[in-house]
Amino acid sequence: MLDPDAAFPTACYLCGGRELQLRFGERRTSAPTPDLADGSYNCTSLRHGNHAPIWRCRTCGLLFQWPLPDPDDLLKAYSAVEDPVYVGERANRYYTFQRVLGALGPARSRRLLDVGAYCGYFVDVARKAGFQAEGTELSVWAAGQGRELGLTVHNQTVGERAASGDTYDVVTMWDVVEHLADPRAELEATFGLLAPGGQLHLSTIDAGSRIARALGQHWPWLMEMHLYYFDRHTVASLLQQAGFRVERIGLYSHVVSVDYLLTKVAAAIPAVDSVAESIRTVVPEHWRVPVNLGDNMHIVAHRPA
Ligand SMILES: [Zn+2]
Repeated sequence: MLDPDAAFPTACYLCGGRELQLRFGERRTSAPTPDLADGSYNCTSLRHGNHAPIWRCRTCGLLFQWPLPDPDDLLKAYSAVEDPVYVGERANRYYTFQRVLGALGPARSRRLLDVGAYCGYFVDVARKAGFQAEGTELSVWAAGQGRELGLTVHNQTVGERAASGDTYDVVTMWDVVEHLADPRAELEATFGLLAPGGQLHLSTIDAGSRIARALGQHWPWLMEMHLYYFDRHTVASLLQQAGFRVERIGLYSHVVSVDYLLTKVAAAIPAVDSVAESIRTVVPEHWRVPVNLGDNMHIVAHRPA
């Protein structure tokens, strides 16, 4: 539907609407490298406030980057990601995932696939809770980290995983969908990975949240690696288009160390950098806080039986 070479988007990816407005102009402190290999696609990227122009569909409210990066370049960039900072945050990721695991219901040896498993930490948490858990991950480095933990982490796209014929009772996609160049196609492939009645749990940033609307162009999640910015309505439409029934939409919170939080805040708002530095000197390194500003959604959907 969309011509990727057009200078301006001509129709909304989600609803086909043609009334599109430039919502946030391009902001870049430095030009993106031609091969996208500047760390922008790392999970822990600090390139807040760097992004291509972001457009809004007046019909459905979808926000999206335009122009989109070339899908092949994107795949290569994600395959090449190495992100040791994330490994340093391992304990906090485990806290985050243990909190969210409760929403999945009893494990009962159900088969689970974590899409965008990164270093496999959620797979590990789910396996220890009694799921038959596997992951799939584009980054060769991250999938390798997961395998070093003794986990099954495929180095495949969702489409490649679906082509294997394997099916699962639960698929999870934590903070993945906003990174995808063609999220509907990936969700359709995900639908095919679920057994009838199987559940999909995904999280994504909420562009319709109070804080996102209040901060406008200063909302820190406007970043190069985030191609689509959904709200409760648009994410539900996307899932319905891929065949899913949406059950509920709640909030998702991350647990991070105070040190990591200060680094992120300082990267997003340079003016607080010196304040962050002085807080850092008095806060114990191991302090952790759940971060939930109401701008991260947890969506539960299922493949109809
Ligand atoms: Zn639209």
